[in-house]
Amino acid sequence: MNAYENRLSLVKNEILEAKNTSTFNEIIKLIAVSKMVEYGEVKKLFEIGQVAFGENRVQSLKEKYDNLKNFKIEWHFIGRLQKNKINQLLSMRPTLIHSCDSLNLAKEIDQRVSTFKPDVLLQINSAKEGTKTGVMPEIAIDTYQEIKSTCKNINLCGVMSIGAHTDDERIIQKSFETTREIFDILKKDGAKYCSIGMSSDYKLAVKCGSNMLRVGSALFK
Ligand SMILES: *Cc1c(COP(=O)(O)O)cnc(C)c1O
Repeated sequence: MNAYENRLSLVKNEILEAKNTSTFNEIIKLIAVSKMVEYGEVKKLFEIGQVAFGENRVQSLKEKYDNLKNFKIEWHFIGRLQKNKINQLLSMRPTLIHSCDSLNLAKEIDQRVSTFKPDVLLQINSAKEGTKTGVMPEIAIDTYQEIKSTCKNINLCGVMSIGAHTDDERIIQKSFETTREIFDILKKDGAKYCSIGMSSDYKLAVKCGSNMLRVGSALFK
């Protein structure tokens, strides 16, 4: 096994192990966050079976997208989205935009859609940290329903959140549980994806009911 195969199988094994101790029964999707590497490394991971990749800047996504056009890669956008980059992002037909962090941004995306209906997640600031974007958990359900009813060109299909920035597992867990509780309520409004968990906390996220993990450094050391 080469280093890529080693890391990918290690992460997948840990996901399975965490799943076995979880009370949730989710089919978990792994997104390889490639923001810290060049497109050649994406190609290497793709060649051993990883199909979904995440980027947090439109410009970097565009560069990789152009260089890897011949591969059937699923691109996920996970970063702060500026209004003036929405058209460029949509032109690449991302599989999922995880980081819609306000009603206003949802409306902006909605207005720019033309040829396809993008899948979008509402980002929630479940840890309530000033450094993070996303809607506050108290208004997440109302905001979700308002986007659903006013933005008919986008397909809002779940929630995304970044775990609390701390070494205290209990606080991280609390933030994940908040997100999962909101997700459970929104299932009746069609929510399918609960995108929580990164390299440092994906096992905990699986235990808390994540079904989409965004893992970067654990795969691309
Ligand atoms: C960078 C990033 C990740 C991956 O982080 P790692 O710690 O490298 O796994 C996940 N989600 C978002 C939104 C990111 O910006």
